[in-house]
Amino acid sequence: MMYKEEGSGKWKKFCPLCGRQTEVFIDSICTECFLRTIKLIDPRAMRVSLGLCRSCGSYFRGGEKTSIEDAVVYSVKRELRRRYGDIRCDVELIDRKEKRARVRVKAELKGVIVEQTGEIGLDIKTGSCDRCNRIAGGYYAAIVQVRAQNRQPTYEELITASKIAESALEEPEFISKQQLLKHGLDIYVSSMACGRRMSREIVKHLGGSFRESRKLYGRKDGRNIYRVSFSVRLPGSHEGAKAQGRERWRGR
Ligand SMILES: [Zn+2]
Ligand SMILES: [Zn+2]
Repeated sequence: MMYKEEGSGKWKKFCPLCGRQTEVFIDSICTECFLRTIKLIDPRAMRVSLGLCRSCGSYFRGGEKTSIEDAVVYSVKRELRRRYGDIRCDVELIDRKEKRARVRVKAELKGVIVEQTGEIGLDIKTGSCDRCNRIAGGYYAAIVQVRAQNRQPTYEELITASKIAESALEEPEFISKQQLLKHGLDIYVSSMACGRRMSREIVKHLGGSFRESRKLYGRKDGRNIYRVSFSVRLPGSHEGAKAQGRERWRGR
């Protein structure tokens, strides 16, 4: 800051950059000049790299599923923290055009709220995600085999079992194949946990019981890889199955 003597003999403070008289200084310059030196959005340092799966349309950052908005907010915040330390900041994606994202950033720097808008680049590489690769390759880790005790399951039971299996899926699990057989239904699924959950749900709704068995399938990275079969047995009599199903339903 600079001091100038006024005619009255008093000293007044002035900003050394713009010459304006002021009492408020940040880093020895006035607030306006301080704000002019701040460039929150740096298009060169803030590029966002994303993967886009052409099969399922999901976006990925470092193998993790994300959205353009989340990835943009994450990258801008990370860069702001790298430059200014642990500051309070708010990042908002305004809109997005092909390879550019328009963002609004609000941050608190040295007690001053700075709000700026600008554009950053988006690098989007199109490919195929792990999950889609596995589905395309027919991958499965478990089979749920739906059968009935001493009879053939009805078509309705198998369709119901199939619907239950589909609704039991959680991200990022998948069913790679469903095979309708004369004596039952085979459901090929991506993980053991998901096969077990499906079996439990099918038994809960249609009655019967299930047991699991594992078979050594191979080795990967020094670990044994198993394929697990869940054999679901619906009750012997179809009416009994319904009754048991209702019973369990009511019991919850
Ligand atoms: Zn100034
Ligand atoms: Zn995909």
